[in-house]
Amino acid sequence: MTTVRTRFAPSPTGSLHIGNLRSALFSWLFARHHGGQFILRIEDTDQKRFDPNAFAILVEALRWTGLEWDEGPDIGGPYGPYVQSERLPLYQEWGNWLVEHDHAYRCYCTEERLEQVNQEKITRKEAPGYDRHCRNLSAEERAKNDAAGLPYVIRFKMPLDGQTVVPDAIRGDVVFENNLLQDAVLLKSDGFPTYHLAVIVDDHLMKISHVTRSNEWLSSAPLHVQLYEAFGWETPVFVHLPLLLNPDGKGKMSKRKPPRDKHGNLIPVMVHDYMRAGYLPEALTNFLANTGWNFGDEREVFSMAEAAERFDLSRLNPANSAFTSEKLDWLNGEHIRALPLDELARRLQQPLEDAGLTVDDAKLLQIAPVVQTRLKTLNDVVDFAGFFFHSEFLKPQPEDLIQKKMDATSTRAMLAASLPVLEGLDDFSAASQLAAMDALTGELGVSRSQLFGGLRVAVTGQRVSTPTFETMEILGKPESLRRIQIALDILDSGAA
Ligand code: GLU
Repeated sequence: MTTVRTRFAPSPTGSLHIGNLRSALFSWLFARHHGGQFILRIEDTDQKRFDPNAFAILVEALRWTGLEWDEGPDIGGPYGPYVQSERLPLYQEWGNWLVEHDHAYRCYCTEERLEQVNQEKITRKEAPGYDRHCRNLSAEERAKNDAAGLPYVIRFKMPLDGQTVVPDAIRGDVVFENNLLQDAVLLKSDGFPTYHLAVIVDDHLMKISHVTRSNEWLSSAPLHVQLYEAFGWETPVFVHLPLLLNPDGKGKMSKRKPPRDKHGNLIPVMVHDYMRAGYLPEALTNFLANTGWNFGDEREVFSMAEAAERFDLSRLNPANSAFTSEKLDWLNGEHIRALPLDELARRLQQPLEDAGLTVDDAKLLQIAPVVQTRLKTLNDVVDFAGFFFHSEFLKPQPEDLIQKKMDATSTRAMLAASLPVLEGLDDFSAASQLAAMDALTGELGVSRSQLFGGLRVAVTGQRVSTPTFETMEILGKPESLRRIQIALDILDSGAA
């Protein structure tokens, strides 16, 4: 049994696209399940030069997801370099090898000629494409062109008839008619390879056993099968992964035209947007693993280590899947609730600091259990509990203090009545406050929501927050009473 080696081979164009992350995730799960290796390779031959910034952004996103790689540009490995623009001599060598062995040829056609051929084909209502002019040049014509120093590309000699079978691990054999295929360019006139040549040379030299990639590449796969054959190399197993579609099931998720959820909110497409929006990497990867694959026993919440144990290709759905924001949000809440409190506190720090707040670690640890059941995203902590970290207590607005079916005077009277009761509590725990305030509602003839809501606004300055009594417990008795007193003053001046 050969060692399983999979790779993730992004072009570094900025952050990581969520659909690419899904391909990476399936490649990673497959490698981990088989105790194999997962390789990161950068396919930057379109950009002329390796861009360290783009690479750093990509690595930051990929590291955040927790999908660690065994070989890659930053950590090296036995088959490096892992950046295509640093491997150009290899592609040139193998491109020329194909020419020498009559599997490829030099094409000297100019852009203008190619355009003209295309136009003529379109006029004749034929599929556009190259007419294989240079495939049939005589040795003299070639020698003449070379002597004249004409620039050329190297094109593959596709068999002109017959079929090419692409064996795909999740789709079975996919059959292509060779007469519909092109003589694709492998090496460009500037010496850079196209994707087709680079991917074959690299996957072979890096000993990739399973080519796990998006099914957008399926149409190129017959060329790749033919290239393996021409080189006489063993073909890896192809696994063409389904795409992640927009929520309406139409079209691939795209950064240029970001989809919207049913409330009209933009759905982020790049991993960095999810990082910034307070999603957990555990939730995002769990969500992606659930679209197109299933754990096998109806279980929807699981870690990637658990998924790796179970992962197999037989439960991968070859059909594309639509994105569902509700599922992701739900999973995010589930993973937030599964975090140990000290870990949750650690992760809440960044969103609070990003909101300009100075975080006190001890207080954050107190707040973590109170918010844990309520957060959909980590960023929600700012709205729920940011007030704990304001250097100055943000005073409530009178209209927020005044409760439903009440006015300033009755609200003031209600809050004033709570003060001595709260002050008299020896035990200022949330449970003790709740019992006392519950009893008070009966005495005052007000509802729970009126009293608890009024107190909430009084101590937090806002209508939505952590629960009232837990909040007061964390603030402590003196600070809570001080804030209620401030609320009374506000209502006094408002009523005056
Ligand atoms: N660079 C290609 C892409 O980003 C990789 C495709 C592959 O995995 O072979 O789509």
